[in-house]
Amino acid sequence: MPKLKKKFVKSVKKPEAKKSKPASASSEPKAKTYALVRGMHDILPRDEKYWKKCFHTAEDLAAFFQFGRIETPLLEETGLFVRSLGRGTDVVDKEMYAFEDKDGSRVCLRPEATASIARAFINSGMWNAPQPVKLWYWGPMFRHDRPQAGRYRQFFQAGFEVLGMADPAADAEIILVAFNFYKDLGIPVEISINSIGSLAERDRYKEELVNYYRSKRGYLCAECKARLNRNPLRLLDCKEKDCQPVKAEAPKMIDWLGPESSAHFTKVLEYLDELGIPYNLCHTLVRGLDYYNNTVFEVYPALTPALNTEGKTDEPVVGQQGALGGGGRYDGLIEQMGGRATPGLGMALGIDRSILAWKQHNEANKLVVAGNKFDIYFAQLGEDSKRVGLRLLDSWRLAGLKVGFNFGKNSLKSQMEIANNLKVPFVIILGQKEVQDQTVIIRDMESGVQEVVDQKKAEATIKKKLEKI
Ligand code: AMP
Repeated sequence: MPKLKKKFVKSVKKPEAKKSKPASASSEPKAKTYALVRGMHDILPRDEKYWKKCFHTAEDLAAFFQFGRIETPLLEETGLFVRSLGRGTDVVDKEMYAFEDKDGSRVCLRPEATASIARAFINSGMWNAPQPVKLWYWGPMFRHDRPQAGRYRQFFQAGFEVLGMADPAADAEIILVAFNFYKDLGIPVEISINSIGSLAERDRYKEELVNYYRSKRGYLCAECKARLNRNPLRLLDCKEKDCQPVKAEAPKMIDWLGPESSAHFTKVLEYLDELGIPYNLCHTLVRGLDYYNNTVFEVYPALTPALNTEGKTDEPVVGQQGALGGGGRYDGLIEQMGGRATPGLGMALGIDRSILAWKQHNEANKLVVAGNKFDIYFAQLGEDSKRVGLRLLDSWRLAGLKVGFNFGKNSLKSQMEIANNLKVPFVIILGQKEVQDQTVIIRDMESGVQEVVDQKKAEATIKKKLEKI
């Protein structure tokens, strides 16, 4: 050992071992532990394979359909969402994490990303770029909702937006991307779809709806009575059993569409037929936010009575809680936010909830999602083998090999057990003797045959063996 290091080692005193009592006999108070903030959840390594697959699926779809990745901040001006989503919506009225910043400005954690993307589209001059501008994002959203299974206060969304295209082909493309996301993951889904027409058509429909619901006031739940004044379209979202007969007889938005909206919707449905995407026409689907017009849709797990978390009706829940994703057209949004009139549409897929549905589907069908797959396992025996082994491992990493290892294990038996569980075809073993001889042992796990190979040749030999299987 060089002198300097010796001196250094000498000068470092070992801390005196504490004569502590066994933990159970200790009278000292335990350190405070912290619980999760309500509605938050950790995403743990055991779920990594699901999250990774979702991200890569979204990323691959974005690449094929030519969506550019956009990242907007988690913190935005509160007014951005109040203006775009509108007062009277649950998100704005009840669910925003809004607070005053240190400089007195009103900010909030984004409850969704479409408004932020509209802002970024205007701010960055993307309206000057060739249209349509296609953007996708992945990230956490925050809503102070009532937490329950599949509903959190921080949750992830993958979203896709098309700006500058009024053609119904864009509606079909967005729905196809949503459908393909689940198809590629192996989750059977179906689309609920409706048209809420233009702003003027929707306003006329709202009047009709309010008149109808007023005549049935006596049958309505307290929440619906409040919705009548606050946000009448949300009457159609009600899941209370007693309100269902009233809802079933309510006027249908589709009967209030003008010829243009009607033709647009028909074309969208023709595209879906051509693509073979299963859909249900859902007259009560309105999506509750102010910025939507014409096509609105949601994605539901097929055959499963959604995630009927409310437990209030026996039928599949067609409302916000059970949907895996949703979206629609927002042709007026960019102009409303101060930009040039630009048609647009988009959708957001809830990743946390999609993973829950995916796991349920896999469990019911005895399907397994593959985790990390290793080419080989590396087993070491003794101090020197770890030192040399770490260097070898790193060289194999550079060579593109996926190598399992665990330097916390010292016995060969336990390392071989891990290798067995990982189902690797080969194990590379490095003991004291091999360190001295600059060799490794390659063990074929199926035949049990072992071969001693020069360390320098290990990588090439292993690659050749892997090619043969
Ligand atoms: P929305 O635009 O509100 O319909 O949200 C799109 C998707 O995000 C929903 O279909 C859900 O999958 C997901 N989502 C919305 N709110 C929550 C929440 N509070 N917790 C978990 N996922 C959510």
